[in-house]
Amino acid sequence: MCEKCVEIDKKIEHYRLIERSILDQLTVGRAKELIAELEAQKAALHPE
Ligand SMILES: [Zn+2]
Repeated sequence: MCEKCVEIDKKIEHYRLIERSILDQLTVGRAKELIAELEAQKAALHPE
């Protein structure tokens, strides 16, 4: 894992915390979207 992945992982972790601790459906939905976006960014950094 490179530095960029570590940065992205930190953000993902942050949004996962939001996802778990916030009950507001809109915010949780947005957090899920952001996690998916960040995971896509990570995948793009390391193409097969
Ligand atoms: Zn990496």
